[in-house]
Amino acid sequence: MRYADVVLPVPLSELFTYALPASLEHEVQAGCRVLVPFGARGTTTALVLRLHNQAPEGFTIKEVLSVIDTSPVILPQQLTFWRWISSYYLCTLGEVYKAALPGKMKKEKHEKAGTTRKRTQGTLAAADGQGGGLALAEAMAPSSTLDLSPAQLAAYQSILASWQSHPVCLLHGVTSSGKTEIYIRLIQDTIARGQQVLYLLPEIVLTSQLTDRLQRVFGTQLGVYHSKYSDRQREEVWQRQLSAEPFPLIVGVRSSIFLPFQRLGLVIIDEEHETSFKQQEPAPRYHARDAAIMLAKQMGACTLLGTATPSFESYYNARLGKYGLVALTERFGQVQLPQVEVVDVAEARRKKLMSGPFSARLLEAMRQALDAHQQIILFQNRRGYAPTIECPVCGWTPRCPHCDVALTLHKRSQRMTCHYCGFTTVIPALCPACESPALSQHGFGTERIEDEIATLFPQARVARMDLDTTRTRSAYEALIADFQTHRTDILVGTQMVTKGLDFEHVSLVGILSADTMLNQPDFRAYERAYQLMAQVAGRAGRRSERGLVILQTRNADLPIIHQVIHNDYEQLYAMQMEERRQFAYPPFVRMVMLYVKHRYVSVADALSRDAAQRLGGLFGTRVLGPDEPAIGRISSLYIRRVIVKLEPALPIGRVKQLLMQTRDELLSQPTYSSAQLYFDVDPF
Ligand code: ADP
Ligand code: ZN
Ligand code: ZN
Repeated sequence: MRYADVVLPVPLSELFTYALPASLEHEVQAGCRVLVPFGARGTTTALVLRLHNQAPEGFTIKEVLSVIDTSPVILPQQLTFWRWISSYYLCTLGEVYKAALPGKMKKEKHEKAGTTRKRTQGTLAAADGQGGGLALAEAMAPSSTLDLSPAQLAAYQSILASWQSHPVCLLHGVTSSGKTEIYIRLIQDTIARGQQVLYLLPEIVLTSQLTDRLQRVFGTQLGVYHSKYSDRQREEVWQRQLSAEPFPLIVGVRSSIFLPFQRLGLVIIDEEHETSFKQQEPAPRYHARDAAIMLAKQMGACTLLGTATPSFESYYNARLGKYGLVALTERFGQVQLPQVEVVDVAEARRKKLMSGPFSARLLEAMRQALDAHQQIILFQNRRGYAPTIECPVCGWTPRCPHCDVALTLHKRSQRMTCHYCGFTTVIPALCPACESPALSQHGFGTERIEDEIATLFPQARVARMDLDTTRTRSAYEALIADFQTHRTDILVGTQMVTKGLDFEHVSLVGILSADTMLNQPDFRAYERAYQLMAQVAGRAGRRSERGLVILQTRNADLPIIHQVIHNDYEQLYAMQMEERRQFAYPPFVRMVMLYVKHRYVSVADALSRDAAQRLGGLFGTRVLGPDEPAIGRISSLYIRRVIVKLEPALPIGRVKQLLMQTRDELLSQPTYSSAQLYFDVDPF
């Protein structure tokens, strides 16, 4: 009798063994999916890891029901990568399987095997023809590339030289220094060698501009992969990557690290500092940058990290000599970096120089830019209309019934919404507590700023880019296309507008309030605030005239504001790293966060105390807590955490074994069996 060890798309750590009926014995290989009976739900897809003859003992064995694939859907190297993710990020292989495969490939019912590959190629071709698919529409012939400037050429050559000794290279190039053109040259080299390239971006919205640019050079060699494509389209890219003619170049966001690459030669991680590379929920809670570096290492590929504002982790690694470091200090065309002007909001308010969220100085600069037919980007890191609603009589404020947060007013939809769990409700006509009419609104979200601009500049065409306006691919593509072709004058947005976008006519950038970013209770707050401000500033004046940035803040005297004005990353890094060293934060220690969640606060408290005590017994003073995170309850679950700070020299394999053992011991106690307990490794 033959047996198959399989992994199921469920968060269980063990593998399962099923018997193979004689009729299926010759149809299945490792890496193929099979349909198996499982639990009360009946059946599920499972992935075969190994075939063997050893009958398992101690339980009755069930049979594989059918075979889904005629050939493997994952490659052996991928499984090695999955195993690394599961051990490094302390999750199960089943959770990795679930994250890795596009939805449709994990469905419980499947068409009969054998037809998949052929059908796939048929629809792919059709998608090409419609131009809406993954293999992009037939390119013009692909055009030749631009000539690199002497500075770009020098950087390109330094990267090649660096790869001779370091597989990972950090390209620290100021905004608009032409990093993308360097990437294009390196991609061409890699494809010419017959190898594949993975180009990772932090945000789906960025893919549309980049895809246009790359398509002009690479035509149908380019495949795009992210969650705004349908499951079917993603499955087609997946199958194509397994075929004899895979896309040589894939552009995607974090999930594209799971695609099957046959001959990976280069991984580019653009805007490597971006926190959105970290998956927060659900497991695997991986950092796509770090995981991609490991993927490249396992496949013998080179990695290029690109950014104008390196993450401290990467910069530290470069300084230590673990990564190569190449700097590009001038903008393409020698355009000057924008001038940053600070407006002290507290002072402006005293002098009655604020109207709503705008200082008189910002309004003046906006008027000048509009008169000169230039475009403007305004950055405000709050979506919705007003972050706070309040009864002016009794002080009542609406709060989410499921989370410890206030509801945000959304005027377009006439609702109040929780930004953590999605709960939404109508705006009450009267205060529910004292029945007084007219609730007041405080603070400015992107919707409200859009409205203010319509009043102040009725002629200007305004667009808004935030989570609410970019839910579909066509929506964000239209937003970017309209701004690119100057059909809109002002783009208001959340952190989405701060990232790698390249527009020709933006002369002014307004940072409406730096203060919420600076006041985050997080050791990365200043690093992150600097990155956001420097990046959004970098959207201004990218072609000829020097751009202007108006930075509004109540903290004008903080060193970080000075550092943003002078583009002084080095000083920021030196000051912040000194604090991190002193208070033992990454990258000087490795952090593992243990999270506990439960419906009852008493259970969450008891379990987190118990966990902290056990971990304290194992790791001593490296364990801090338990404590309550800034938001102590989300989706009706109370959240507690325990922080473990590990010096890098500790044998991490053994440490992780102890962590998982502690988890299993705690969850095996009947009082805690309904609790969630998980780890977040290198949390963000
Ligand atoms: P970065 O990625 O460093 O922010 P980009 O690659 O977007 O910068 O380049 C900024 C602008 O300069 C882009 O519009 C790009 O087309 C242009 N550019 C960059 N390099 C060249 C070049 N060698 N020749 C012509 N234009 C270039
Ligand atoms: Zn009231
Ligand atoms: Zn909520």
